[in-house]
Amino acid sequence: MHKKITVVGAGNVGATTAQLIAEKNLADVVLVDIVEGIPQGKALDIQEACPLWHSSAKITGTNNYADTAGSDIVVITAGLARKPGMSRDELLQSNARVVKGSAKNIAITSPKAIIIVVTNPMDAMAHLTLKVTNFPHKKVIGMGGVLDSARMRAFIAIETGAAPDKIETMVLGSHGDLMVPLPRFTKVDGKNLTEILSQPKIEEIIRRTKNGGAEIVGLLKTGSAYFAPAASIVEMIENIFEIKNELLPCSVYLDGEYGLKGVYIGAPVRLCSTGVKEIIELELKENEKQALIASAETVKDLIRKLVT
Ligand code: NAD
Repeated sequence: MHKKITVVGAGNVGATTAQLIAEKNLADVVLVDIVEGIPQGKALDIQEACPLWHSSAKITGTNNYADTAGSDIVVITAGLARKPGMSRDELLQSNARVVKGSAKNIAITSPKAIIIVVTNPMDAMAHLTLKVTNFPHKKVIGMGGVLDSARMRAFIAIETGAAPDKIETMVLGSHGDLMVPLPRFTKVDGKNLTEILSQPKIEEIIRRTKNGGAEIVGLLKTGSAYFAPAASIVEMIENIFEIKNELLPCSVYLDGEYGLKGVYIGAPVRLCSTGVKEIIELELKENEKQALIASAETVKDLIRKLVT
């Protein structure tokens, strides 16, 4: 029997995620959105591509959460995307309303699901989803670090000419302006990045990684990135389904790890069919620890603004 994945929000990220899930034949997909016709139309279009992908996935579009019942995974992508010049944090209040409503419905219709939160500002939205659903925290996971790390890998590949799959990176912290790319944990073909690139080049790659989302928003002008975000969501799904077993930076609820408590922040984790299997504590240097703490403070600040 196929697994069932609900994707909330049939916009750019949601529909592309549904497409990738169908193309890889990972699960049946229910696309749910508030706009009538959009999830239905996109679902039908994806369904019609399935024969060409040799995929037996069933794709449904709906405006009704009853159709999402019993999902194994729910991906929340509903809400506004940034416009040029905007930070992710500026989406806080409007997207909180959307995420709150979606999370309430999911808790009723799919009480056993693992939730992947994508809507920005993502770490704060993951926290809100946890509070609204009252799910165990290992079942509510945010997507940000997988994307930020993939961007860093892409920029290193462009600079060095190395194959992207020979490049390992680790970007921790919030999925925001204070994310924490870790060059010390970055390797190209088994060699440390510092042996391959000069310090100014490494700094340029870090700057571009931190600005990766804004760079695309600036080019598109009417929306934000979705191909790499959707691929990052699917990477997490493949780990949850235990098709892959990778160390992935995901936004998870820390309960003392890295000296942080009660906050969602990007940390290296292993995922499994019940959610977060383990959180790995890297040995950070003092400056890296401080960067992570500063990043966590920005998330705590957003959460404080949410409750007031
Ligand atoms: P989009 O505008 O293309 O799509 C958003 C969709 O959400 C629209 O179809 C809209 O109708 C729908 N929607 C709005 N309110 C809803 C509700 N109450 N219930 C169901 N659906 C609802 O935007 P997008 O490019 O797909 O981005 C979606 C979100 O994901 C944004 O907040 C964006 O910032 C975020 N994002 C996060 C990451 C990440 O790494 N975490 C990456 C890319 C985008």
